[in-house]
Amino acid sequence: MNHVRVRDDECKGCAVCVSVCPKKCLAMSGKLNSMGYEYVQFINPEACTACGLCFLSCPEPGALTVVSEEEH
Ligand code: SF4
Ligand code: SF4
Repeated sequence: MNHVRVRDDECKGCAVCVSVCPKKCLAMSGKLNSMGYEYVQFINPEACTACGLCFLSCPEPGALTVVSEEEH
């Protein structure tokens, strides 16, 4: 199954990835990371197409990694 890995401490909580995901796979977690930002969480692996839009739109290069099922 496709998966997006979130490095909680790299996320700045801008929520851009939440709005760009066409499948609504990402949501704000309601929890703060060590930098004091509310980080995002991956919530919908069944719907994720591994399109990469979340990764491409995220301003923090280390925050998101898209793992497509072909790579497992
Ligand atoms: S890879 Fe595409 S479908 Fe999956 S969470 Fe990111 S934007 Fe959404
Ligand atoms: S776009 Fe990047 S920095 Fe912004 S909420 Fe998503 S993972 Fe965090």
